[in-house]
Amino acid sequence: MEFTNLGLQSALANTCKSLGYTEPTPIQKQAIPAVLNGADIIAIAQTGTGKTAAFLLPILHNLFEKKLRGTTALVLAPTRELALQTEAAFRDLSAKKFRCVTLIGGASYRRQEDAINKGVSLIVATPGRLMDFMQRNAIDFSKLDTLVLDEADRMLDMGFLPSIKRIIAALPQNRQTLLFSATMSPEIEKIARTTMRNPKVLEVSRPGKTAATIEQFAYPVATQSKTVLLLDLLERERFSRVLVFTRTRREAERLSHILEARDHTVNRIHANRSQAQRQVALLNFKSGKTRILVATDIASRGIDVDSISHVINYNVPDAPEDYVHRIGRTGRAGNTGRAITLVTSDEESNLRAIEKMTGQSVERILLPNFGGKLQPVNVATKFLGGNLGGNKTSRPATRSFRPRR
Ligand code: AMP
Repeated sequence: MEFTNLGLQSALANTCKSLGYTEPTPIQKQAIPAVLNGADIIAIAQTGTGKTAAFLLPILHNLFEKKLRGTTALVLAPTRELALQTEAAFRDLSAKKFRCVTLIGGASYRRQEDAINKGVSLIVATPGRLMDFMQRNAIDFSKLDTLVLDEADRMLDMGFLPSIKRIIAALPQNRQTLLFSATMSPEIEKIARTTMRNPKVLEVSRPGKTAATIEQFAYPVATQSKTVLLLDLLERERFSRVLVFTRTRREAERLSHILEARDHTVNRIHANRSQAQRQVALLNFKSGKTRILVATDIASRGIDVDSISHVINYNVPDAPEDYVHRIGRTGRAGNTGRAITLVTSDEESNLRAIEKMTGQSVERILLPNFGGKLQPVNVATKFLGGNLGGNKTSRPATRSFRPRR
């Protein structure tokens, strides 16, 4: 299947090829023809599925073909990082033929205003900063014909619903609305009912499914031994790039200092870091200058870095969806990845809720000396006496059993 088969003009199809997109991803196959047909869509697609190009390509096709003037498209995104990545994707896909501005907090207001005044085809924005601009009447949306709500579920989780409602109320009604979300929920359905016209629901994988290219393991551990276990795992595993998730900003700070003291190249992103600091952290992680990035959930949204070999959950997330989002950062674009979760006895119930939602069991690996305990209902458990070596076949599993559920 070629990009031109989806109805896209050949120049865009060629740009895709030059970016190494050999064929459309499943969500692109479904979404692009529907959007070109003028339909409103609700696309249930996680990050890593090629969802950004799924909405940017038809927007660009219309810009090229219809020679539209003014600001014709608006993308709302939950975080600054995701907004910046969408802008970068637009720059690549448009071959810089159309202008785009990103309106996000933590960056110069004046520069963003200047860019708007020069004229932009696409605005990518987080809801808070966009509201600031709209309150000052600084943007002309009269030509707008496409609105994209990207990672809508996360925008709602972050409390953006009131802003989103006010923004939508100020946009032309005669427009196309494209909603992307990793999960479907009653709140999403409500937004769809009130702001969209007969939306087509597209789904590429069941919500809550984890990719088959990700191997998942959990290491039972005592709370006080988590840090030493993390250091030990980093010695054992052959990793290229590791994303470590922590629950709190303070934990992210603490871990990254400890890792640095052990001569790891490491950086961190969380809500207390400035926009510039986050960008440097991401760039260095992307380029390979730092091999470990410690992140909290919110700050990590939209991290688009290929070849992350390992995601390590320093704690088990409370919400199963967060687990799916976290581990979805590895095993992308056909690469395999390993997702490792440190689990204390108190966190076992959270891990079981995750297994229930994803329909996949996570193999428990018990290493001696870290105070971990096997829980009786673990699905597949291995007891390891020796060195892991980072390679499945080399693991000296001394005991393996599969107790009844
Ligand atoms: P996204 O789901 O938008 O975060 O995209 C994940 C990654 O897939 C990005 O690095 C894109 O550049 C890449 N990508 C998007 N479409 C394709 C495609 N058709 N073939 C290969 N890679 C793609």
